[in-house]
Amino acid sequence: MLRTEPYVSAARDVVVVGAGVTGLSIALELAEAGLAPLVLERTGVAAEASGVQPGGVRQQWSTRISCELARESFGVYRELAARLDSDLPLEFDRCGYLFLAHSQPALAELEQSVARQNQAGVPSHLVTPEEAAVFAPGLDVSSVTGASWCSEDGYFDHPQAVVEAFAQAAQARGATLAIDEVTAIESDGAGWRLRLRTGVQVRAAHVVVAAGYDSPELLRPLGVELPIVREARHLFFSNPVPESILRPLVISSERHFAAKQLADGRVLASDLSAVGDPEEARPHWRQHLRETIEELLPILGYVSLPLLVTGFYDVTPDNQPVLGPIAGLEGLHLAAGFSGHGFMLAPAVGRIVAGPVLGRAPDEALERLSLDRFSNGSLTRELQTV
Ligand SMILES: Cc1cc2nc3c(=O)[nH]c(=O)nc-3n(C[C@H](O)[C@H](O)[C@H](O)COP(=O)(O)OP(=O)(O)OC[C@H]3O[C@@H](n4cnc5c(N)ncnc54)[C@H](O)[C@@H]3O)c2cc1C
Repeated sequence: MLRTEPYVSAARDVVVVGAGVTGLSIALELAEAGLAPLVLERTGVAAEASGVQPGGVRQQWSTRISCELARESFGVYRELAARLDSDLPLEFDRCGYLFLAHSQPALAELEQSVARQNQAGVPSHLVTPEEAAVFAPGLDVSSVTGASWCSEDGYFDHPQAVVEAFAQAAQARGATLAIDEVTAIESDGAGWRLRLRTGVQVRAAHVVVAAGYDSPELLRPLGVELPIVREARHLFFSNPVPESILRPLVISSERHFAAKQLADGRVLASDLSAVGDPEEARPHWRQHLRETIEELLPILGYVSLPLLVTGFYDVTPDNQPVLGPIAGLEGLHLAAGFSGHGFMLAPAVGRIVAGPVLGRAPDEALERLSLDRFSNGSLTRELQTV
């Protein structure tokens, strides 16, 4: 059972705003180091993006920093039940991710990414169309020029259980979780004062804002402009299919398509180009999926996709998160802007963001992912997004 406190008004060393996977991973790290963080959450654990994501964890990325964060996080996720001492269902199915190319330029991009991944220790490699069809039986490779494959990539069967396990583990180690909305963060001499919806005020030396796409609104009154925008993403699901028909996640960026069969038998498929009002655009998205399935995965041809689930990414201009202390605002820290990959990076992000709160030497990632990068122009765009 997750415990929540009705209200808390004492002064704290550190308050974390947001009980998504990011805030909870940071709280866990802080609690393990001996602090007693207070996590303030408006609605409930995994109330926003963390409660929609289907649990994908991969290490195939185009930038060094993404590969490194993903590699570290994979190491934690591989042994999560033991690491969190949890009896929740935390099965991580290493089903593999297959990124398809349909042209020589797309294949060259995958090749460059694989080289970068290998430098970070990720065991990915390029495969021929014929080899791709071995990893994904039923894949029609007539239009495929090649692919990249990583057998360590995979999915959590119960992704929201992972978020709950972070919450339970943080609480077991001394964190407190309270349901209340932070309406304002104000400077308070030596530290920060948080005003809550219920009228309670909390003072803290450190505040970590991990409020997903709501982070910009919280920080704007302090003069901080976060370049994070909320973007809708849509997932189609089938009813459970008894036979195993598609084990890996198959992605074609050129066809704006991704599909996989989940552990409970449902097929998950996404039109990565889907924009607009779901009520109006849903038939076009479904049509696009149908055509791509016919071209690439005719094996899914008989599977209907009745359920549409919509969630929101918190997207930055370079598709990389914004992490760490905010320059000029001592004690205020950020962890937001995950651009669709915050679940899989949460373990590394927890360690890295907690570092400065704990007085540890800053991780190199903090320099590369600081808010300042947007004003000094040092952006390295992550290209391999889904
Ligand atoms: C359709 C979809 C598919 C995805 N698939 C994947 C995937 O396969 N793998 C992956 O790694 N990522 C995936 N993602 C992205 C992933 O879900 C997010 O990057 C991640 O969950 C972000 O976690 P977070 O804790 O930073 O933010 P959130 O989960 O959004 O949590 C922020 C929390 O802050 C709270 N909050 C906001 N404002 C306040 C306030 N003022 N006071 C108190 N609390 C507040 C909110 O209620 C919320 O609970 C997907 C996302 C979507 C939408």
